[in-house]
Amino acid sequence: MYKTKNKNVCFWCGKPTGEEVVISQSPIVNLPETGHGVYSYDPCPECQKHMDEGVTFMETEKLPVYGDHKPIMGGVYPTGNWMVTSTAEAEKYFHGNTRKYIFLRPLDFEWLIDKLEGVVIDVS
Ligand SMILES: [Zn+2]
Repeated sequence: MYKTKNKNVCFWCGKPTGEEVVISQSPIVNLPETGHGVYSYDPCPECQKHMDEGVTFMETEKLPVYGDHKPIMGGVYPTGNWMVTSTAEAEKYFHGNTRKYIFLRPLDFEWLIDKLEGVVIDVS
């Protein structure tokens, strides 16, 4: 029997979302070894709940990190590492430039983890 559907996996936590996707749709990250794929950068309800608690910092690269990796926007490839802090805490470092989602290159992401140690709400 031919497989016509694939199981969607949340990019942010790696757990199956329960959604089935027609196999002709191309994934944003392919996980052939598991028979799963990531078909969207939309967070699953659990990840969305954490992201809604404050400001989400996402580690990103300029080039693809995974097989068939598609950018979230031009030249921005999320690695899957992210953390959430309160808006007040983020403001200390982003002085008026705080947005709900902030993309950071790996060195900046690492730097911020050190700064925010103990105040991070959630890390994946
Ligand atoms: Zn998730």
